[in-house]
Amino acid sequence: MEPPGSPAAALPPRPRGAPKRGRGRGRAARRPHVTVDSSKAKTSLEALKISLRQLRWRECPFGRRLPCDIYWHGVSFHDNDIFSGQVNKFPGMTEMVRKITLSRAVRTMQDLFPEEYNFYPRSWILPEEFPLFVAEVRMMKENDPAWKPTFIVKPDGGCQGDGIYLIKDPSDIRLAGNLQSRPAVVQEYICKPLLIDKLKFDIRLYVLLKSLEPLEIYIAKDGLSRFCTEPYQEPTLKNLHQVFMHLTNYSLNIHSGNFIHSDSVNTGSKRTFSSILYRLSSKGVDIKKVWSDIISLVIKTIVALTPELKVYYQSDIPTGKPGPTCFQILGFDILLMKNLKPMLLEVNANPSMRIEHEQELSPGVFENVPSPVDEEVKVAVIRDTLRLMDPYKKKKKDNLSQPSEPASEKKEQLSEGGSTDKLEHDSSKNPEASLPSPCLKQVFPKYAKQFNYLRLVERVAALFIRFLGVKGTTRLGPTGFRTFVRNCKLSNSNFSMATVDILYIDITRRWNSMGMDHKESGMCLQAFVEAFFCLAQKRYKSLPLHEQVATLIDFCEYQLVTLDERRLVCSRGITERRPALVTCQPDGLHLTPAHHAPLLNRTAATNKLADYRSHRL
Ligand code: ADP
Repeated sequence: MEPPGSPAAALPPRPRGAPKRGRGRGRAARRPHVTVDSSKAKTSLEALKISLRQLRWRECPFGRRLPCDIYWHGVSFHDNDIFSGQVNKFPGMTEMVRKITLSRAVRTMQDLFPEEYNFYPRSWILPEEFPLFVAEVRMMKENDPAWKPTFIVKPDGGCQGDGIYLIKDPSDIRLAGNLQSRPAVVQEYICKPLLIDKLKFDIRLYVLLKSLEPLEIYIAKDGLSRFCTEPYQEPTLKNLHQVFMHLTNYSLNIHSGNFIHSDSVNTGSKRTFSSILYRLSSKGVDIKKVWSDIISLVIKTIVALTPELKVYYQSDIPTGKPGPTCFQILGFDILLMKNLKPMLLEVNANPSMRIEHEQELSPGVFENVPSPVDEEVKVAVIRDTLRLMDPYKKKKKDNLSQPSEPASEKKEQLSEGGSTDKLEHDSSKNPEASLPSPCLKQVFPKYAKQFNYLRLVERVAALFIRFLGVKGTTRLGPTGFRTFVRNCKLSNSNFSMATVDILYIDITRRWNSMGMDHKESGMCLQAFVEAFFCLAQKRYKSLPLHEQVATLIDFCEYQLVTLDERRLVCSRGITERRPALVTCQPDGLHLTPAHHAPLLNRTAATNKLADYRSHRL
């Protein structure tokens, strides 16, 4: 008998149709079993177990004395202390997708690229932006007296529709209550959603953020559609409070007497998204366009989240220190408008992976029963995420990889039929060949060329991270900010170092007074981004904001590359004891001023700059 814990003892029975196991000599048999720590999987445990059985991987339900290949956390990155392998959560993701943080991150992008980011409803953060909310609504009403808006108020950090209410006028906000202790986002309510069977519904799509550096995003081909249980009417004072008409949350609608459980994927109150698309396409809707808009929404949203995620990442897993690599399945909640435009409602860092639902046996008495719709979609998402993260396949792929045309050079039409990992299909060598084709499709870097121009804040974040100095921090101190200004040669007769200090103090104080996290002092990334935009606007007055920012980033990156080169020359000069070509100063202050290279003028120096940039993105 095999000792417990040995790989052979842990082998699950061979699924029907799976290739036979060899006696340890065949290629497939020699491949070690991937180990997955499921001890912190919480409510995703059932779906994870099924996925592991299908893959014939090894589950470690109580953890393992030796490190595992993959750690599956139900809640957050910090569920376990891990120093190796891969973990299914990014540090900081939960904070990043909270309603207020997400709204702020998207708003920064809306300031830069208003057209590209019009998939997120206009939002205000309460209580701090209440006066702004009142003033802007008044102004918009004056400009367009026919505009009769509705707003939705959502408490920050809330979920499952908790504490959400609709209002017709800013004065209806329940300010007297606990807004100070429980801040919220107030958002324009989308009054004309697409209806099916007269019901409002939303889409839960699963997105895999496979890696931050380089950015890799996959989208699941199928998702879930969650239906309201009362026929929809546009909001009026009379129906504003009717949650079963306006809110699509499963957790709310399950309690309506009208909720329909169905074992079929295309009927009932929860259906597959593919069944909706099928129905729409039979009515002549161009579903390729719907998909391409959804893909674009997902990529743009992740582009908005990435800068701050990178700050969290370097703080929790500093370069050079042992740590796991991360990936994460995100739940995107999307509403299709009547004109089929997808709108982002929210992003969930811990989308429910439960594959059972509650059924009310008698009034107030609930029982958990299997949900075939959930199982079909969620098991595929977990299993195919694991397949993509397979550490042995990765190694094999790394060994096989040939230099090829970068994905960003190919401009393709966005479609849900994006590329999958080629190795997946190599059925002669791959024991996974008996599994269904992967449900996750790569969308980034596949479509990188169409979206890279949006990644400006990510480059600002790279500057921020460079000047953070102390490993493990997420805040920039005043000295770090001064060094940034000095090294990038941003101060001049119009912008003295005293002005730099005032800018730092003003912006940092304001951001820290509205932040919920008072643990760390110093300048957070958003404050740095604001300061950076401010500097860009001062320097390049006549340009649109995104060009001002892009030009200043180019300028800063150029200065830093030049500085690094000079430092390198200096250090070589010292080691080789040769006279240095330039007068070396540690802060780079006394160099001959380099000309700021225009954006499209590729001199030798800008090519170096391009190399530098491609390394950083
Ligand atoms: P929660 O995290 O509490 O579920 P959501 O932001 O997902 O909060 O909102 C709950 C529900 O309210 C959504 O599923 C959707 O049906 C509805 N909803 C949210 N925002 C809007 C909006 N701007 N316009 C129309 N409906 C919305």
